[in-house]
Amino acid sequence: MSREPRAPAGFEAIPAAVHHASTVVFASVADMRARHWQQDAVYTYGLMGTPTTVELERELCRIEGAEYCVLTPSGLAAIAMVDVALLRSGDRVAIPDNAYAPNRELAHSMLAQWGIETHLYDPLRLAAFPNNTRLVWLEAPGSVTLEMPDIPALVKAAQAVGAVTALDNTWSAGLAFQPFDHGIDISLQALTKYQSGGADVLMGALLTRDRNLHLQLKHAHMRFGQGVGPDDAWLVLRGLPTLALRYQQHDRVARELAGWLTTLPMFEKVLHPALPTSPGHAIWQRDFSAAGGLVSVIFKDTIHSEQVDAFVDALQVFRIGYSWGGPVSLVMPYRLAHLRSLMPWPPETHLVRFAVGLEPFETLRADIAQALPHLDA
Ligand SMILES: *Cc1c(COP(=O)(O)O)cnc(C)c1O
Repeated sequence: MSREPRAPAGFEAIPAAVHHASTVVFASVADMRARHWQQDAVYTYGLMGTPTTVELERELCRIEGAEYCVLTPSGLAAIAMVDVALLRSGDRVAIPDNAYAPNRELAHSMLAQWGIETHLYDPLRLAAFPNNTRLVWLEAPGSVTLEMPDIPALVKAAQAVGAVTALDNTWSAGLAFQPFDHGIDISLQALTKYQSGGADVLMGALLTRDRNLHLQLKHAHMRFGQGVGPDDAWLVLRGLPTLALRYQQHDRVARELAGWLTTLPMFEKVLHPALPTSPGHAIWQRDFSAAGGLVSVIFKDTIHSEQVDAFVDALQVFRIGYSWGGPVSLVMPYRLAHLRSLMPWPPETHLVRFAVGLEPFETLRADIAQALPHLDA
C-alpha cells in the first residue's frame, strides 16, 4: 500500500489520514501553472481530489488490476458519468434487459432527450449489436434476477461494432471477477455495497486500464463537479482491509441459504449463480472465483402478492430495504413484469430478493422458517 505523507515526524499509525480541502495552496505561481488536472495525484483544488481520495483510488485499482480510477458521489453517478462522457447525439447505448433499473431509466429519460437511442438486449441470447452502438453496458449477474451473462462473448460482439464496454461489476466487488483480463474497458463499482460494508456511505468508482478513456471520464467528472468528500472516502478506505473476509462470509452463508431454500415447496425457483439450475451457472463457474450475498426466490403461482407481502413483513432479522453489502441482511419483494421488456415474466411472478448480511446461517434460516406460515394466511 503506498501511503501519502500524512503526519508530523514521530507519529505513524495504520489508518488513512483524512485530508480536508477546498483550496489547495501552491508554493508559487510557477508551481500553480505547472499542475494540471490531467496528471494523476497532482493537487489543484479539493473538488479534484485530496490525498485521501487518491489513496482510495489506488487501493481500488490494486484490487481490480486497473490503472486508473475516478470516484463519484454514488454508484448511480458513476453510471451517469460513463453515459455523459462517452455518448453523443445520434449514438446508441446498449443496455441489458436485466440491468440495474436506474441505468435503464436514465437512458429512457434523459439520454433520449439528448438524441441518444437505447438498444435493450437479452444478456442470455447473444446477437449482434446495431452499427452505431457506441457503448455497451454489461452487468454480471443482473442484480435482481441474477442471470449470469457470457461476458467474453458480449465483449467480442461489442468490439465487432467498435463499442466501448462498461461492466457494472458491483456484485463481484472486483474480487470474484477480474474484468480487465476478460476484455472489459470500464469497470464500475457501487462502493456503497461491499467496499463500504457499513451501510453508511454512498460512493461509486470507475476503473480502467485505458488512459484515454480515463481522461474522458475524468473530464466529465470535473465538468460536472462530481467530487467526493474525504470523510466518505475514509469510510470506504476503512472497509477495504476486511473486504475479502466479509465477501467470503456473505458468499458462504448465501450459498447455504440458497441450498436450503431449494428444499422448500413454495418456491418455483431459487436464483443464485452457484446453483446448477440458475441461468448462466456454467458461465459463472467458468469465469468467476466466488459469488456474492444475493439470493432470489420466485414463488409458485398459487401464492398471491398479499401472501408474499405478509411473509416479507413477518421477517424480523431480514430488514426491508434497498441495497446490500452491509452487516444486516435485507429483503425486497419485486414485481418483475414492470422491470423487463425482452425477458418477459408473467405479471403474477413474485420474486423476493434476500441480501445476506453477516449474521450466521442458522439465524437467517430460523427467521425465514418463522415467517413462512404467513404465506398461508
Ligand atoms: C446499488 C447499485 C448501484 C448504484 O449504487 P448507489 O451508490 O446506490 O447509487 C449500481 N449498480 C448496482 C448493481 C447496484 O447494486
